[in-house]
Amino acid sequence: MDIAELAERVSSGDRRALARAITLVESSRADHRAQATELLERLKHTGRQALRIGLSGTPGVGKSTFIESFGMMLTGQGLKVAVLAVDPSSTRSGGSILGDKTRMDRLSRDPDAFIRPSPSQSHLGGVARRTREAVALCEAAGFEVVLIETVGVGQSETMVAEMADLFVLLLAPAGGDELQGVKRGIMEIADLILVNKADGDLKPAAMRTCADYAGALRLLRKRPQDPEGFPKAMTVSALEEDGLATAWDEMTALTDWRRETGHFAARRADQARFWFEEEVRQGLLARLATGPARAEMERLGADVAEGLATPAGAAADMLGHLGLDLATEVEKGAQGT
Ligand code: GDP
Repeated sequence: MDIAELAERVSSGDRRALARAITLVESSRADHRAQATELLERLKHTGRQALRIGLSGTPGVGKSTFIESFGMMLTGQGLKVAVLAVDPSSTRSGGSILGDKTRMDRLSRDPDAFIRPSPSQSHLGGVARRTREAVALCEAAGFEVVLIETVGVGQSETMVAEMADLFVLLLAPAGGDELQGVKRGIMEIADLILVNKADGDLKPAAMRTCADYAGALRLLRKRPQDPEGFPKAMTVSALEEDGLATAWDEMTALTDWRRETGHFAARRADQARFWFEEEVRQGLLARLATGPARAEMERLGADVAEGLATPAGAAADMLGHLGLDLATEVEKGAQGT
């Protein structure tokens, strides 16, 4: 199938074509990369826009239970829902957190849902870049809500926040002083904190935890992209499907406000710029990692290790080898140009 036809099928909502397109963007083969780029260029013109929701939480807080309940609720409202994952551990296990489809058994059988495991790539940056493109493909295929799941390990949240319109942090009821357990950086990117498992014996603890986080959120610096009352903390029970409709109402209210005030479009524009720069950075790094440049790096690295050259001197040689002048680059960098 040529790329024009694949693009046509993806935009008509053909799920097999979508799966195939995602496989293409995940491939690191040079010819595949060129095709993937062409495919994304072609699909850009569909102009479709999903609500992209980043969802993070440590293992065991109930992410898959939540995604299943929440996803089923949305498809029940007639929405088409895609679920993708950025899984930093996939590099270690070679598998993925969503590899086991039984985690979202009902949702994976729902004709209005599409679940895709995390790509296995050698580093988080690669996983994130390809997931971002998979999000764009799902959007072009007509999915109206795209959930991007990640396990909370710091770096991956930042990557997911760079591709999501909303960032939701899922927490479990805590015993006492566990507030510090959530890194400040993650609190700062959260739009909505959901304290899950607010049911049965855990309900009082969930309500306390929620109050603690609501207090902590009020102490954060006010962000221009938030209307009054956001970011917000609330309790849910993914298991009993309680609070999910309210959570969705909050998400849509926030999104509507951001659309009206231009923050939604501005964020997407910033993100597009971020990924463009990231792609260029990674391209330059890749150039250093292979071929003659790699050999030159090895050779100069050995000289530095043996004390035959200074790190700065060898770096200047290396950049010279790439046609760049270190002194000029450093000066430009310092001036921010
Ligand atoms: P994940 O690792 O974040 O994907 O978490 P899972 O969705 O696999 O859930 C971990 C455990 O928490 C499972 O035993 C779930 O049944 C349980 N769990 C998830 N959501 C809830 C909830 O709302 N209430 C209660 N009581 N348990 C839940």
